[in-house]
Amino acid sequence: MADPKSPAPGGLRCDEVLERLPDYLEAALPPSERAQVEAHLRGCANCADFGGAYVALVQALQREDAAPADRR
Ligand SMILES: [Zn+2]
Repeated sequence: MADPKSPAPGGLRCDEVLERLPDYLEAALPPSERAQVEAHLRGCANCADFGGAYVALVQALQREDAAPADRR
């Protein structure tokens, strides 16, 4: 379990990273925050797990969105 008193990877807490994930995926974050999110994902197994699943889900939705609706 995450210890709230332990130093946060990337200088961000888990909830702060999760807040930024949507912007991170849309490349809407400034480079300094992108780097913090990436550093946190590398240092935090929880967020790497959740972030990885989240990224995969969003990418799947984007693919579905972009796919022509030619199958009935
Ligand atoms: Zn985390």
